[in-house]
Amino acid sequence: MEWPELKARLLAEGTTRLTGKSALRYRSSSTAGPGAGTGGSVFFSCGKGRVRLAIDQNSPLEIVHLGSGRAILKAWHLDIRGNLEPIALHCPRQAYITVTGGCIYRCKYCEVPAIDAGRKTLEEIEAMVEQVQDQSDSIALTSGVLQSIDEEEEYVIQVIGRLLRFALPIGVSIFPGKGTAERLHAAGVAEVKFNVEAATEQLFTKMCPGLSYRSVWDALEDSVPLFGRNHVFSNLIIGLGETDREAECCIGNLCELGVIPVLRPLNPAGELSGFSRPSAERLLRLFAFHTEALSAAGLDPCRAITMCIECTGCDLVPGRDRA
Ligand code: SF4
Repeated sequence: MEWPELKARLLAEGTTRLTGKSALRYRSSSTAGPGAGTGGSVFFSCGKGRVRLAIDQNSPLEIVHLGSGRAILKAWHLDIRGNLEPIALHCPRQAYITVTGGCIYRCKYCEVPAIDAGRKTLEEIEAMVEQVQDQSDSIALTSGVLQSIDEEEEYVIQVIGRLLRFALPIGVSIFPGKGTAERLHAAGVAEVKFNVEAATEQLFTKMCPGLSYRSVWDALEDSVPLFGRNHVFSNLIIGLGETDREAECCIGNLCELGVIPVLRPLNPAGELSGFSRPSAERLLRLFAFHTEALSAAGLDPCRAITMCIECTGCDLVPGRDRA
């Protein structure tokens, strides 16, 4: 089985058991991303790509840790040899920090409001990055909204000011307002990810009450001339009820703007716990479309240096997940 097909099947499953030798330094407990607030996850890589799986002792899949990171993934009668990757903060090789781990908004697919982990101080964030700077190639910041979209951005810009001294590229993913792209660029940010989340405005309005779809698209449009093609990203969740046609239309529109879409399989949690994860077949179908749309627009995910397109743990990424 080629890696993209295997990864699509792993992403559709989403979980693994973890057995064998103690793997504490390879486990991540996150307050952001799929699986936030659950029993942690691991990153398995096999030379062709990387996948993040949530740890669930009832999973049909198993990763056996042999020691020193060497591991065997047992799935569908296959034994795949590879490695568990050490985690800097949240993911391998990045200091990825959730600035505010709570939110006044209630997007239906998101667990951040329920986790309600509060806001980290500037000193805490600086100390966190300092601890992992030797294992990190970049810094990534994301955040819920503590008081308002504008206040959150102001705080994140203060955080950026404290982190420039590490001389690592900084990627930022927050909910944007008017002028956010310009301000983040002026603050020294290298890359941005503003998430359209849903394939259509109608679905976005249903999933993210109180937030504006238009603001996200406007911020993406503003960002490309500032940060450059290949350095502006947007998550599109697959599995919220959109059709393939709607997903493809959204992918095409993002690529046309010069934005690299991140096709994020839905992790059915919170209010969406009755939904299903997208099937491997659907993920592969959309991966093929995504690959062509990026190529037609001259976009190359291999040039990204921060956040999810660089990490690839949760998504199939054209150019990075190789056959
Ligand atoms: S792909 Fe993004 S959300 Fe997933 S582990 Fe990597 S950085 Fe986190």
